[in-house]
Amino acid sequence: MNVGSTVLGYPRIGPRRELKRALEDYWAGRTSLETLESVAAELRASTWAELAASGLDSLPGNTFSYYDQMLDTAVMVGAVPARYRELGLSDVDTYFAMARGSDSVPPLEMTKWFDTNYHYLVPELGPDTAFSLADDKPLREYREALALGVTTRPVVIGPVTFLLLSKASQEGFAPLSLLDGLLDAYERLLGSLADAGVQWVQLDEPAFCADRSPVELAALSAAYERLGKLANRPRVLVASYFGTLGPALSVLAESPVEAISVDLVAGGLDGIASVTALQGKTVVAGVVDGRNVWRTDLASALAKCATLLGSADRVEVSTSCSLLHVPYDVEAEASLDPVVRPRLAFARQKLAEVVLLGRALREGADVIGEVPEVSPRPRNDRVWARLAALRPEHSRRGDYATRAKAQQERLKLPLLATTTIGSFPQTGEIRKARADFRAGRLGPNEYRRLMRAEIERVVRLQESIGLDVLVHGEPERNDMVQYFAELLEGFAATEFGWVQSYGSRCVRPPILFGDVARPEPMTVEWAAYAQSRSHRPVKGMLTGPTTILAWSFVRDDQPLGVTARQVALALRDEIRDLEAAGIGVVQVDEPALRELLPLRERDREEYLAWAVESFRLATAGAADSTQIHTHLCYSEFGDVISAIDGLDADVTTIEAARSKMEVLDDLRAAGFGRGVGPGVYDIHSPRVPDVDEVVELLSAAVRVVPAERLWVNPDCGLKTRGYAEVEPALRNMVAAAGEVRERL
Ligand code: GLN
Ligand code: ZN
Repeated sequence: MNVGSTVLGYPRIGPRRELKRALEDYWAGRTSLETLESVAAELRASTWAELAASGLDSLPGNTFSYYDQMLDTAVMVGAVPARYRELGLSDVDTYFAMARGSDSVPPLEMTKWFDTNYHYLVPELGPDTAFSLADDKPLREYREALALGVTTRPVVIGPVTFLLLSKASQEGFAPLSLLDGLLDAYERLLGSLADAGVQWVQLDEPAFCADRSPVELAALSAAYERLGKLANRPRVLVASYFGTLGPALSVLAESPVEAISVDLVAGGLDGIASVTALQGKTVVAGVVDGRNVWRTDLASALAKCATLLGSADRVEVSTSCSLLHVPYDVEAEASLDPVVRPRLAFARQKLAEVVLLGRALREGADVIGEVPEVSPRPRNDRVWARLAALRPEHSRRGDYATRAKAQQERLKLPLLATTTIGSFPQTGEIRKARADFRAGRLGPNEYRRLMRAEIERVVRLQESIGLDVLVHGEPERNDMVQYFAELLEGFAATEFGWVQSYGSRCVRPPILFGDVARPEPMTVEWAAYAQSRSHRPVKGMLTGPTTILAWSFVRDDQPLGVTARQVALALRDEIRDLEAAGIGVVQVDEPALRELLPLRERDREEYLAWAVESFRLATAGAADSTQIHTHLCYSEFGDVISAIDGLDADVTTIEAARSKMEVLDDLRAAGFGRGVGPGVYDIHSPRVPDVDEVVELLSAAVRVVPAERLWVNPDCGLKTRGYAEVEPALRNMVAAAGEVRERL
């Protein structure tokens, strides 16, 4: 039987984040390029050794990157914008300038990699982009592996996805129009790989797991017709992941490529077997989840692969996507909750699963053997009883006009009320206090004293600046999701479960494994303390259900909407306790609302329904006189605007400075009639806005939103900034609000 096993990619940051350290040392000038290169070479070597030892039949190569695979591809095809070339730096420093900026030029834009928490750098292409094969990284790494005795299948972003994810350097330009020139570069790449003896290359085309126009599908067809017809090339695997290929599947099946990978975790088998053109090709069956941390149900994964046997020439068992999105190794976790641990499979364990499934497909299901029993997940009956008792009215507040009136009577806010998004700068002392407390070097009383002193200081500062609605500043939070995960039942934390988010930055997502419940209040103590230090209203600060799910590994044994409702109930109780402690304003952040949006239109309604419903369930227990805020971190609302309206928050703060408040027009067009706080300055840079520019933005804003409903705030939280810029920026913001208010 023609069967094999492979994976689509592997983590690269290092089991102990070795690459992160090496990169940051190099960037800070603490180490030489040689040191960085040798750390990188060691990581590549150990990855190849591990893949080779796993027993996989075919191994991915070129999975290493100093920063990001899209950036690697841009550099490979010579798409380096002039402003970086003109810096006159070495190749590697030009690369890092594109990734991180330099003193004189900002970096390339960065954005989310599909619906994951990985971010890629967005290549910039224009009419003057001239592609070439400027860099041979895939070939170099192939040779480097070969020298170590390991044969790999270089993985490269496919040409069409590369263009579809790039942005035009000038308005009206369509990157897709560059396809021909780009294919010249890819032809040269494939030729040079073939000359070096490469047998297989993997071209990733995940863009086709989202909805694509006929023109884009035609580009896919044209690209693989052309590459497929090359006389001198390796065999080509076109990889898709994060969803189903839909109409792109037949396009690829009819093209001359030898293999296609399909994500059978995100999508089903539907339709695949009926694509007759797959006969004669290899289908790489992504049955082991590359994005989540649970052990695979081997029997059902095997059944999926077996179904495909009749439809293709060869079936290779694989992961649904690159393993880049999961941590390295469960074995590294010494203190994991024993209920959770036996359920987990990280990258290393997933390799073993894929190998075992490959053997089972070849030799029969018996080789899987006894699957060790796992104890049932602990069930929280109280949570389920509450869920069962939920009625639509639990997610509905009174009408907005009545609420607004009750809130104004209580809060007595001026027109153009000023506030911030929650966090204040996280100074070295704060971080140290948290770390010392965690490590037991600081007792709870001393820790509380330090945090209170910080809160007091931040409250005094906000009063002196003249802000209207204050915050406590979030000094006790390491991260807006992890903080809650550590206090809620149903989550586990890992020690080394790092996953690359972008460049050297990693996150350690909590693992949401059980029923979520709140053993005790999570934020009340800090908020109430802040409120006790001021007569102005202090805004309580929570993270919303969808964002908590988006930034965790979530259980996959029940619909996400059910898990979201459990989180919502915990937040609902927290809001009730905040109210009881005298807090009259509560912000529930949902920065991830848009990021979880399904790639395909047809899945969106269902997602938005539960995302909105869970936010409302969390907040609708609040009294009319309690003002509910929400905060969203992006300005492209197009596809979620009615969902944002559906959240029914009294005040919505959003990113807007970079887009010059254009978002207000969108909101108006959508009939959004509650409070809005379009960010008046960008917190991603240390630049201090001057009063006049904020006045200008606000003057534009009051023409669109009535002053009673218009809020004045920065774009996002201030935790990554320093006081040197935060204080003058907020003072200018408050002064500008005052000026515009005078003129009303
Ligand atoms: N309240 C959070 C903060 O200010 C919000 C962060 C976010 O939107 N990502 O840090
Ligand atoms: Zn934000």
